[in-house]
Amino acid sequence: MNGRSSDVPDWKEYYEEMKETCPLTVYYPICGGGEECITVCPWGTSIWEVRPMRTPMFGRGYRVRLRPVMVNPELCRKCYLCVEACPTGALRPVGNPVRHPYLTLLYNSVKLFFKKRYGFKFVFRKEHREKFKKNNAAELDG
Ligand code: SF4
Repeated sequence: MNGRSSDVPDWKEYYEEMKETCPLTVYYPICGGGEECITVCPWGTSIWEVRPMRTPMFGRGYRVRLRPVMVNPELCRKCYLCVEACPTGALRPVGNPVRHPYLTLLYNSVKLFFKKRYGFKFVFRKEHREKFKKNNAAELDG
C-alpha cells in the first residue's frame, strides 16, 4: 500500500482486526515503530510486516506512520519474546490489553533502566534507530 494514498486506515482498524484474529495486538498510539518486536521474533518477517496507518505517537502527530502488523498469526508460538522486547508496552497478549496508555508508557519507559535484556542498549541499537526514523518519516504522509 502506498502511504500517500488517502485511504490509509486509522490505527484502530488494525488494532481491532488483530484483536479478533491474532494472539497479540498493538495499541498503536504508544508504539514508537522501532520494530524491536520483529527483531526478536524467531519468525520475524514471516509473521510481521510494517504497514501504513494513521496514528499519533505518544499523544502527538496523528498522521501516516509505518507500524508492525501480524500478517501470519498462525505461525506465532506464543513465546512472548516480542512482548518482552516492546519498549513501550504497546504490544500485548489480546487477553491483557492496554487500559491506561500513558501510565503503561511511563511504566515501561522507567523499566528500560532495569531490564536485563531489551533495555536501552537494545532499543537504541543502530538498526532500531534507523527503523524508527523510516517508520515515522514525515514524507510518509505525502
Ligand atoms: S509471541 Fe513469539 S512467535 Fe509470536 S510473534 Fe511474538 S516473538 Fe514471534
